[in-house]
Amino acid sequence: MSTQRTPYVGGNWKMNTNCSDSRALIDAIGGVLDSEKGNLGVEVAVFPPFPYLRCVGGRIDAMDAPVVLGAQDCWQAGNGAFTGEVSTEMLVDCGVSAVLTGHSERRHVIGESDALVNAKTLRGLEAGLTVVLCIGELIEQREAEETDAVNERQIRAGLAGVGEDQLSKVVLAYEPVWAIGTGKTATPEDAQNAHGAIRGLIGEMYSPQAAAEIRIIYGGSMKPSNAGELMAMADIDGGLIGGASLKADDFYGIIEAAKGSLV
Ligand code: PGA
Repeated sequence: MSTQRTPYVGGNWKMNTNCSDSRALIDAIGGVLDSEKGNLGVEVAVFPPFPYLRCVGGRIDAMDAPVVLGAQDCWQAGNGAFTGEVSTEMLVDCGVSAVLTGHSERRHVIGESDALVNAKTLRGLEAGLTVVLCIGELIEQREAEETDAVNERQIRAGLAGVGEDQLSKVVLAYEPVWAIGTGKTATPEDAQNAHGAIRGLIGEMYSPQAAAEIRIIYGGSMKPSNAGELMAMADIDGGLIGGASLKADDFYGIIEAAKGSLV
């Protein structure tokens, strides 16, 4: 990746852990990151389930390690009559500074539309959160050579109404759906092709400078053994990690690879 962009590594815990596991996991991550203090050079975030945000956030506050608290979802409107939903006001109140939008499990399992993903993205940005907007194609779309078209549709829709001045708070996560949680990873070349096209699109939609500055991270079965070769590619600026983020050593291995991509 380019040395101008700070790599971003997010740990998406999904619907995993319980109260004591989430505490143990963040303590272990804090333990390995603690010695890095301000010198890490990589932005690191963890995205625990809603019920454990306060607990994990409290441990982060106490540990002085370079990691921030993120949420896996948010509702697109302010506090009010939305039974079961969680507002960005609540997230901010719980110490959250980043949120995922458009994750494939929410698009394809729960049925979130491009319009809903866009509304959540706008809401997250309004609340001052870093928004990790996830995009990516299904296997049948890849086989039909529609990868770039799907990414373009999801990005144009997801970023509708987002100004160039807000893009520094947006991280794009390219996550081919067929690679998520399957153990199958895009080859570095395939991932680079998708990332290069995404960066080109941001250049068209905004400006060459916006394209040069935006972080585009890869997700889909990233692990310490493949993170280095993926992040060595010119347009891959980090990773969104599911399974491997549940083990502190594996997560740290990926952060190390991100650090290595800087030199
Ligand atoms: P995975 O998940 O690393 O388990 O494939 C990635 C993600 O869903 O963000």
